[in-house]
Amino acid sequence: MSDPQGRGKGTMGANAIEIRGLEKTYRAVKGEPPKRALAGVDLDIPAGSVFGLLGPNGAGKSTLINILAGLVIKTAGQVTIWGFDQDVNPRQSRASIGVMPQELNLDPFFSPRGLLEVQAGLYGVPRSQRRSNEILRLVGLEDKAEAYARTLSGGMRRRLLLGKALVHDPHVLVLDEPTAGVDIELRQMLWENVRRLNAEGMTIILTTHYLQEAEEMCDEIGIINHGQLVARDSTANLLDRLDARTMVIHPDDGAARLPQGAGLDVVTRADGTIAITYQSGQTPAEKVLEAVRDAGIRIRDVKTEQADLEDVFLELTRDT
Ligand code: ADP
Repeated sequence: MSDPQGRGKGTMGANAIEIRGLEKTYRAVKGEPPKRALAGVDLDIPAGSVFGLLGPNGAGKSTLINILAGLVIKTAGQVTIWGFDQDVNPRQSRASIGVMPQELNLDPFFSPRGLLEVQAGLYGVPRSQRRSNEILRLVGLEDKAEAYARTLSGGMRRRLLLGKALVHDPHVLVLDEPTAGVDIELRQMLWENVRRLNAEGMTIILTTHYLQEAEEMCDEIGIINHGQLVARDSTANLLDRLDARTMVIHPDDGAARLPQGAGLDVVTRADGTIAITYQSGQTPAEKVLEAVRDAGIRIRDVKTEQADLEDVFLELTRDT
């Protein structure tokens, strides 16, 4: 066969992943009612992006990722990976994606090199095209290449799982909570790898609980809640959605009066600064400064604070 990995060419357009009407209902078990984990998700993930899938616990993130990985069977809908419909071309769609799972299960009696070779075999990568050494170097496990997996630390296991996801050189890499509970050094190493792989053209999809991390790493974000996509936008646009700004004034010699004005929410903070919150879409910053001057306050220092992804997330997933 001329195309042993089944990568083919696909009919790849601008999107690495296209999801239409995706539904998943887990069957009833032991008296529990059936659980509808995904309730009709439509989602496009652009090729070449770093895409963050966020949502509270139980929202349906793992279900979606596991469907992409071919580990969970969808109830209804269509999933296309790198141009290959999962139902029509299951082999090619599977070959287009690599998944770094959350759990650290590894066969304890294999070495890192052995595990990479087995994985490559599973994906039908011919020996001549295997890149075990390169991958071991990438994830910093060269000197552990022949060690038993059971002797590896948690951090090393995670790196090895990243390596395993890369053996068939997938177009799309999925990372499920890659940095949950890992130390700073490993986190940095993972992000360096992600940035490098993305710079080389790989599309990255990740779930994370660390919203600051998503804000830094992801150029596109989807927020899922109760099995539905409640937001899907560029990180920058999502952050713009909440246009509340807070201007923090450090008065030169204390403030006799507090600034006043329509649309201004003014509080004095414990450190003596005055925090004025306003909607930037309605109130120009100049108006806020005017109110400060009108109150006879001399400004020693001023800075502004704006909403971060955490605020957006809470706003969108708040159950009312
Ligand atoms: P998340 O990854 O966002 O925390 P999950 O996809 O794991 O969410 O879960 C979504 C919903 O589906 C939850 O209510 C969860 O309890 C339920 N669920 C997940 N896996 C199963 C399963 N194998 N059987 C039954 N219900 C499940």
